[in-house]
Amino acid sequence: MIPIIQRNMGWIEVICGCMFSGKSEELIRRLRRAVIARQKVAVFKPLIDNRFSDDHIVSHSEQRIESRAISSSADLIELALESHVVGIDEAQFFDEGIVEVAVRLANMGKRVIAAGLDMDYRGLPFHPMPHLMTVAEYITKTHAICVQCGNPASFTQRNTEQSDQVVVGASEFYEARCRNCFQPPLGEPVNRGKGETAKGQEG
Ligand code: ADP
Ligand code: ZN
Repeated sequence: MIPIIQRNMGWIEVICGCMFSGKSEELIRRLRRAVIARQKVAVFKPLIDNRFSDDHIVSHSEQRIESRAISSSADLIELALESHVVGIDEAQFFDEGIVEVAVRLANMGKRVIAAGLDMDYRGLPFHPMPHLMTVAEYITKTHAICVQCGNPASFTQRNTEQSDQVVVGASEFYEARCRNCFQPPLGEPVNRGKGETAKGQEG
């Protein structure tokens, strides 16, 4: 019989959802518990996201944890080598290389927790999140509350005319909406059921 040899095993957790759904809160909650358990924690966010702070992750509810802003996923491995737990916020703003980085860290025996938007303002997949979800052991989808009707919200409504995929900002540009209340931008490809078109484009 081949003996089973247990090894220290890492894994990948993904926290995904729309804006205001509590992804950062959930990431901070998990990281704080690891700190309490005296695990070494390293936290990263992309350099692009300096809305509230350069050296902290800050949730919309003002919870915060120290983090490092980095411009490329390639910088992450070396900075995370000494840690047991690696937190990554706003993972959707990283390059596709973040997937290999997460896999390598998990293979080294680390717990990797990545939070990010699963859909952009059009309701389309926000890469590299889909790829990260594929390689993750655990996926948590968080929901906000639709500001129009109070149902669970999974979509991020952008209330500005800008059409770049990335327009960094919070409540002045974006709000959480449910499937019924979400109005994708006109003339854009949208995430709708088969045969449906964007609201206002029918007929
Ligand atoms: P995310 O990282 O998903 O954008 P955060 O963790 O930063 O979310 O913030 C979550 C907090 O946002 C909530 O605890 C609440 O205080 C606030 N919030 C603002 N708008 C909403 C909404 N429509 N539904 C739920 N929470 C909201
Ligand atoms: Zn709604």
